[in-house]
Amino acid sequence: MAFMPDPSLVTRFAPSPTGSLHLGNARTALFNFLLARHAGGEFILRIEDTDAERSSDAYLAALIEDLRWLGLAWQAGPDIGGHAAPYRQSERTGLYADFQERLLVTGAAYPCYCTPAELELSRRTMLAAGKPPRYVGTCRDLTAAQRRDREAHGRASTLRFRVKPGAEVAFDDIVHGAQRFATDDIGDFIVRRADGSAAFFFCNAVDDALMGVTHVLRGADHLANTPRQILVLTALGLPAPTYGHVSLIVGDDGAPLSKRHGATSLAELRERGYLAVAVRNHLFRLGHAPAVQGLLDFDAMAAAFDLRHLGRSPARFDLVQLDVWQKEAVHGLSGAAFAQWAAEALPAGLAPAERESFIAAVRPNVVFPADVRAWAEVVYGDPPALPDGGEAVVREAGSAFFRAAAAAAAASDNDLAAITAAARAASGRKGPALYKPLRLALTGLDHGPELASLLRAMPRAKARERLIRYAH
Ligand code: GLU
Ligand code: ZN
Repeated sequence: MAFMPDPSLVTRFAPSPTGSLHLGNARTALFNFLLARHAGGEFILRIEDTDAERSSDAYLAALIEDLRWLGLAWQAGPDIGGHAAPYRQSERTGLYADFQERLLVTGAAYPCYCTPAELELSRRTMLAAGKPPRYVGTCRDLTAAQRRDREAHGRASTLRFRVKPGAEVAFDDIVHGAQRFATDDIGDFIVRRADGSAAFFFCNAVDDALMGVTHVLRGADHLANTPRQILVLTALGLPAPTYGHVSLIVGDDGAPLSKRHGATSLAELRERGYLAVAVRNHLFRLGHAPAVQGLLDFDAMAAAFDLRHLGRSPARFDLVQLDVWQKEAVHGLSGAAFAQWAAEALPAGLAPAERESFIAAVRPNVVFPADVRAWAEVVYGDPPALPDGGEAVVREAGSAFFRAAAAAAAASDNDLAAITAAARAASGRKGPALYKPLRLALTGLDHGPELASLLRAMPRAKARERLIRYAH
């Protein structure tokens, strides 16, 4: 898709609020958002909560918070309304009833009185016979009298869509190309459950049509659902959107993304202090191979989003790659934005000047809030233990070295030049032999931020305490 403005393009993200936002779904949301933004069209948030038992308001609230954190904005949704409101399927039951009635009167659907136990038995029988389980059609051709009889006996019914045998459903998938499915492989499926709620194949498809959705990008696990949805839409004379089934996200070992890959939800990444721009840049490249490199902002990302660059092979979620983006993103923060991001990891009670010199010292060495905490411990905590071999390095520098350094630290207000000059004069050391024992004694580490800046941030008494312990 070369850039083509198309304000009539409409996309949507249609999550079920039954858990926290998975990275695969976050990527789906991002792609739909970018596709709409690229074209100057509309992006809708629709909540698929007809499964009342598994859906909850708390999940919905968390979902909206996650999406907003990721930086996504929608032009219509449950929180802001829009021309096709309501946007929660649980509030659209009346609307669905009209379309279900139409299916019923035209014979495109029929009431099914089979009990869950009967269906389960039939399913097992088919599996045992080595056949794919499919509805056998028990209620397909009941006469009006037979239906009345079952109703008179108080049997609950679902509404089942009648799939015509011997036909084919064909469509072009943006990612997978031309698709053909034989209707003989599709059993009659439920469009309304016994409790009156609308079933997924039905309300997902009907809502896309009623909301004017033109493009559906979603996970490849939905590819096989598409023919059923097209059958429903065709029976109702409603338009079908163009579907694109994006590749599934796997871990670095190729297995479906799970806990052992380190993180599976957006909330986990946010809690660890990942920046949204870093997460977006990684998700943007999962199953989508843009022609542009580098950390992109939203405008650049929308401009570069290209349906032709969506791929079929599983996309690898890779924390190492994400961390590369994170590093770049943290590096690119303004001073104020960095301070705000790091704030919750800073020790309480720092004076503004202390906070400033601490941030100035550690910022180049920080990728996560956890790094801020670790450096705060180095600067403000107890005298650090030395690493393996560190003790020998420090002892070899000798007590005169540290006596001189401690005195100079106190006299110079922690000025590194004064400290090294004094230690050099006392020991004759220079270069690494001069700096290494100082860094080890002061920080307990043989690497880290510039020592001069760290010393400026370190409380004077702390610096002295650390140096003086090797002065005897
Ligand atoms: N509620 C469905 C899901 O979360 C939506 C699928 C779709 O995008 O069409 O998987
Ligand atoms: Zn039945």
